[in-house]
Amino acid sequence: MATLYDRIKAGEFLFLDGGTGTELARRGIPHEDDPCWSARAVVDYPDAVREVHADFIRAGSDIIITNTFRASPLMLNACGLGDRWVEINTAAVRLAYDAIEEVGAGRQIHVIGSLATTTPAAAPIPPEEERRMFARQAMTLADAGVEAVLVEMINDIEHSRLALEGAKEAGIALWGGFSCTIGEKGVPLLYGSDIPLEQGLRALLPIGLKMVCLMHTVAGDMGPCLDVLRQHWSGPIGVAPHASRSPVPNQSVADAYTPEEYRSRARKWISSGVRILGGCCGIGPEYIRTARDGIQLLG
Ligand SMILES: [Zn+2]
Repeated sequence: MATLYDRIKAGEFLFLDGGTGTELARRGIPHEDDPCWSARAVVDYPDAVREVHADFIRAGSDIIITNTFRASPLMLNACGLGDRWVEINTAAVRLAYDAIEEVGAGRQIHVIGSLATTTPAAAPIPPEEERRMFARQAMTLADAGVEAVLVEMINDIEHSRLALEGAKEAGIALWGGFSCTIGEKGVPLLYGSDIPLEQGLRALLPIGLKMVCLMHTVAGDMGPCLDVLRQHWSGPIGVAPHASRSPVPNQSVADAYTPEEYRSRARKWISSGVRILGGCCGIGPEYIRTARDGIQLLG
């Protein structure tokens, strides 16, 4: 069987999933006042997590991202779950494979591990220790069977460097999910910062990525962000935009659009060379299904 990277290298077009966290919240999983809520769902609501993965597979996703965005040892320590981070990360990978087994018959579907750069503001730790914690999470995800580690929420240089360098130690493919926004002067910036995307790419791409994804990015900002990315990166590119207001605090963006509008935007991204399409906060299975059914893929 071809590996995920073989398929990407061969130029095959692949669909990611959408926003697992927002989909869990939409289905009633409690998310208030708990920065670890979606990680906690892995052990408290495993059926819901597996069902979200299964619904994205039914909708046509070829790649499932583990529900480990909030499951770094750093985050879980801050939530009093520090002794359960191996259990939670391992179980999250298993739930993705369980969903594939349940509804993915006859298709080749891949699992990649999400590792977010987000760190709890209240508990800064020495950089070397932070890098080691990211490394341990990535190795745990790799041991549990993911084909690549996706470092998400790259919107600074300091923590993102530690996350990428740590994740690389797992020895499997390293993907980077850069978050981009357009600044006041029309310059693409790392999301929520005043650091130009260009500067972030120059600093972090040399760490050695196999795939770069623009995610946690408003769809309307994607074009100029992609232009900058293409100037600095000749490898495979994915996009996973936001859609609509997220039910989760701090993940809400005012950019509501329908699955049909997503599909027509996706056509433009694909014609500009994007090979992997998925979604971030607010993109549910119906968006992936609509895009998958309606996009005439070339090559
Ligand atoms: Zn997002």
